[in-house]
Amino acid sequence: LLVSRQYKSEDTVIRVKQTEFGGASHVLIAGPCSVESREQLLTVARALKAAGVEVLRGGVYKPRTSPYDFQGLGEEGLVLMKEVADEVGMVTISEIMSSEQIEKASPYIDIFQIGARNMQNFDLLKAVGRSGKPVLLKRGLSATIEEFIFAAEYILASGNDQVMLIERGIRTFEKWTRNTLDISAVPLLRQETHLPVFVDVTHSTGRKDIMLPCAKAGLAAGAHGIMVEVHPNPPAALSDAKQQMNVDEFHAFWNGVRDSGLYR
Ligand code: PEP
Ligand code: MN
Repeated sequence: LLVSRQYKSEDTVIRVKQTEFGGASHVLIAGPCSVESREQLLTVARALKAAGVEVLRGGVYKPRTSPYDFQGLGEEGLVLMKEVADEVGMVTISEIMSSEQIEKASPYIDIFQIGARNMQNFDLLKAVGRSGKPVLLKRGLSATIEEFIFAAEYILASGNDQVMLIERGIRTFEKWTRNTLDISAVPLLRQETHLPVFVDVTHSTGRKDIMLPCAKAGLAAGAHGIMVEVHPNPPAALSDAKQQMNVDEFHAFWNGVRDSGLYR
């Protein structure tokens, strides 16, 4: 496979502006679940940037379980992402859910996210492979590691080797966490592929009280970085209100990550 260590032994490093994903350095990806307003995004982006975070995430096309829940700001959100990122000086990541959205989002977003629900949307994987932009591919809700690796292979086979993988928890019988963080996926993906590997501690755990130890576990297992959701006022958030950190909670989390010595 093109993603395999047998095909390419050295780690893939993806450079976007000043940021390097993969290789020796770690990257924290942070930001709100959804882009909701200019003020919301700017507040969070400024706080993150001041804390040394380079990569801003924010959903504008939202894959919501219920069609009656907030579906994202769409193109208006894309414009806000670019305006805020340019003003503050950050790299952006946002999810696209269809091939048509690739073209719309391309001028506004640095890195496309393929969400868990679309990990096996093979036409979308091929389309994002043809786009040439870096891709952050999330593990499917119930995907095996092998299926995850084949999904990444679709993107490389379509001509795009700028792919990063992110473990975001899988469905199990366990109810005390939103999903089950499969920490074993991290060393396996590192061993089997040459791609950068991340851990999403927000969607995997769904609980702020254990995000710090789970982030440390991910880094100790070999992850190239962590994703976490941060919102200026989580109780009022239009999506994932329960699991987003406020700015103070984020600072405590981020200090804990850096104090661990596991984040370089
Ligand atoms: C997200 O990161 O915004 C998201 C929807 O996560 P997932 O696809 O992992 O559920
Ligand atoms: Mn979310």
